Amino acid sequence: MTKWVYGFGDDGAEGHAEMKNLLGGKGAGLAEMNHLGLPVPPGFTITTEACGYFYAHDRSYPAELREQVECALAGIERSLGARFGDPDNPLLVSVRSGARVSMPGMMDTVLNLGLNDRVVEGLARKSGDERFAYDSYRRFIQMYGQVVLGIENHFEELIENHKLDSGVLLDTDLSADDWRILAAGFKDLVAEELGRPFPEDPQEQLWGAIGAVFSSWMNPRAVTYRRLHDIPGDWGTAVNVQAMVFGNMGADCATGVAFTRNPSTGANEFYGEYLVNAQGEDVVAGIRTPQHLTIAGKQANKSALPAMEEVMPEILAELYAVRRTLEDHYRDMQDIEFTVQRGRLWMLQTRSGKRTAQAALKIGVSLVEEGLITREEAVGRIDPASLDQLLHPTLDPKAKTTILARGLPASPGAASGEIVFTAEEAESRASRGEAVILVRIETSPEDIHGMHAAKGILTTRGGMTSHAAVVARGMGRPCVAGAGDLRVDYAEQTIGSRNIVVRAGEIVTIDGSTGEVMLGAVPTIQPELSGDFATLMGWTDTVRRMKVRANAETAADARMARRFGAEGIGLSRTEHMFFQADRIGAMRRVIMAEDETGRRAGLAQLLPMQREDFAEIFRIMKGFPVTIRLLDPPLHEFLPKTPDEFVEMARLTGKDVDAVRHRALVLHEVNPMLGHRGCRLGITYPEIYEMQAAAIFEAAVLVTKETGEAVEPEIMVPLVATRKEFDILKAIIVRVGEEVMKRAGIRVPYLVGTMIELPRAALRAGEIAESAEFFSFGTNDLTQTVFGLSRDDATSFAGAYQRLGIFEHDPFVTLDVDGVGELVRLAAERGRAARPGLKLGICGEHGGDPASVAFCQSVGLDYVSCSPFRIPIARLAAAQAALTWQAADATV
Ligand code: ADP
Ligand code: MG
Ligand code: MG
Repeated sequence: MTKWVYGFGDDGAEGHAEMKNLLGGKGAGLAEMNHLGLPVPPGFTITTEACGYFYAHDRSYPAELREQVECALAGIERSLGARFGDPDNPLLVSVRSGARVSMPGMMDTVLNLGLNDRVVEGLARKSGDERFAYDSYRRFIQMYGQVVLGIENHFEELIENHKLDSGVLLDTDLSADDWRILAAGFKDLVAEELGRPFPEDPQEQLWGAIGAVFSSWMNPRAVTYRRLHDIPGDWGTAVNVQAMVFGNMGADCATGVAFTRNPSTGANEFYGEYLVNAQGEDVVAGIRTPQHLTIAGKQANKSALPAMEEVMPEILAELYAVRRTLEDHYRDMQDIEFTVQRGRLWMLQTRSGKRTAQAALKIGVSLVEEGLITREEAVGRIDPASLDQLLHPTLDPKAKTTILARGLPASPGAASGEIVFTAEEAESRASRGEAVILVRIETSPEDIHGMHAAKGILTTRGGMTSHAAVVARGMGRPCVAGAGDLRVDYAEQTIGSRNIVVRAGEIVTIDGSTGEVMLGAVPTIQPELSGDFATLMGWTDTVRRMKVRANAETAADARMARRFGAEGIGLSRTEHMFFQADRIGAMRRVIMAEDETGRRAGLAQLLPMQREDFAEIFRIMKGFPVTIRLLDPPLHEFLPKTPDEFVEMARLTGKDVDAVRHRALVLHEVNPMLGHRGCRLGITYPEIYEMQAAAIFEAAVLVTKETGEAVEPEIMVPLVATRKEFDILKAIIVRVGEEVMKRAGIRVPYLVGTMIELPRAALRAGEIAESAEFFSFGTNDLTQTVFGLSRDDATSFAGAYQRLGIFEHDPFVTLDVDGVGELVRLAAERGRAARPGLKLGICGEHGGDPASVAFCQSVGLDYVSCSPFRIPIARLAAAQAALTWQAADATV
């Protein structure tokens, strides 16, 4: 016979903490508190399996359930010496939902069940408190009416009207008679709405409530919540039926909720609220202002109401003991509910408390210091993604704001600045030390230097994977994208919403974590890796096997990366250096030149600039490896586009405008992403890669001489499909390198390797590795080419694909382990078979995604590389991946 019901109470509990799947979080917590000897009102839990049965069988119950419930109910009656439905000595119960994971406010609970017109009189007699009896009764009718009978909540209106009529301000001032009248009014309301009387039979009430809890699992609120939180629909909820304890029996009664530590700061202080003479949800319902447990809490929150410490000091002392017991037992911060009935404390719930990222770090570190958990456990408990909250400037929560518009939260962090409308202006103003927000309808690769110079980016078109969003996230610039309510007028240099117009030079603030655009400068707080954050990050490093590097090409980003703990650079995109205002002209000359001589002239101008860029990065990354990718982007991104740019180009090259236009036409590509880019540039214009190789080696030599420490460049050839391409380019790099080193009279260690970002390269990894000294998986392009799908064009259908479950996750955010991952695994295996110890890394955006980092560990990569702002996330994710890996290893 299946066991559908698990009891708890005087005879001990049949369940325990580990049975969350079967008993739900609430049921498992009640059972565990029972085992710990804490005061828990007796009751029983109907399993989540019964809920499964309920839905599999047309909303009916298993045959044995009725008997098991009756038996468990009889157990409660025995232990309390009261009887369900007995007017002379009534037992009342609560019927509470409780899924495996907490779904706050998503499902429903009914209190004071078992009351009717006769039982309420008995309750009044037995308790000697009529007011309490009728207050409980009206609460029951109200909750049962709403939760089980589906009646809209007009009950509070009746209370308000009654208070007005009788000239009373507070619920607590209402008398027994008032509540009696209100209870009768509530019943009339139900009868009117329902077309039949309120159910008087306690058994009918009980099964009605059980059915309502099961049914609430499928209510639209719960369904939506599950979808947003990835909770499977077949888990189901348990039902807890529990003897009522009453916090509404007078001044020596109370109800409350508490966290065993401060959930927003993590401080080791008891943090909670209570209300005297109240029941259940009153504390959170906002009808009465709750009071603080401790005097410290009362003072911190500037509350004038007395603390429990002052009103019921013995109860608070008991609660402190419960707090100690629960924390020692669960070894984590708990969120608890309690009720005080006539001076006696009862525990009604415990669960692991929700907390901010900052609190999670503080609690983890404190619990280690207190000897309750190990460092590894502390590392394992922090959600890497939550650290994002701490890694960007955030709005000062105390600041007042005026919202101008809302867009998508495309790249987290907050920033203020004067609005500018072109990348050029952003850059020139920023170089004068001014803070600007770059406003564009949408951005293109040519805006990158301006995006970099700006404090934040605001676009009115485009989604979460638009150019602006992707680039901003990579740079760690706050970005609000697709703020469609705003109209950008480039000619007038204004942005406007319905009634407000903001002009160039006026200040706005954007919050890329919420998508809000605000008027004026809102004060922000800078991120910092210090205190508990730094301590916990230090622990991740002792656990981790994979190294963590940064994708960075500017000195500022490289410094930031070091501050966040990067162990080198995994991807330095040289083209970002070419888009800067003083260089794009020279670069265009190279591209537009008809012959090698023309190209070499432009390149000669660029060489010293590149050399200094690399030297600066080498200085910052002293002692760590730096991977530099040779020129990669489609030529077309460098071409002049606007009439002004054509004129400027003609002036620069001494040609006429038509000739320039003709050249641009020749270079035009239909599908640039699959066109003349990557190593194909190096093959057709070897002098470009020669110049870059020379700049890298000269910089390495320079910095090695300067510092006396070896600098180890890893020179990376992009978009290789065949070994032949790689061999040709490697020969050039090696030749140039040897020349530079010979001239300088010293040698620097270096590696020449390739990105694996085309399926063919992954398949032929074996032969490529015979020549290449390292691989870096470029999973952005690899995802595009494996799926045959352009990231920039995916926005139009990606939504539908996710809705229909074709994409479980956005494959540009979380690596597609089945497809792209298979190629990565295969390339890693073939590469290492050909060259044992081949250095392997990943430099796509996936390098900063926790789930993808776990995959990287499983294929044995040596490092992951991600944007500087995600370094702590990657360090933690890599540590967790190593722990999981060890645990899996240990069980084999
Ligand atoms: P939720 O999951 O929304 O918190 P609960 O089932 O925990 O719902 O109950 C709602 C409120 O009623 C809580 O404040 C809880 O402490 C209180 N409550 C539940 N059961 C009882 C009971 N048997 N006696 C007294 N109060 C109860
Ligand atoms: Mg609730
Ligand atoms: Mg609760």
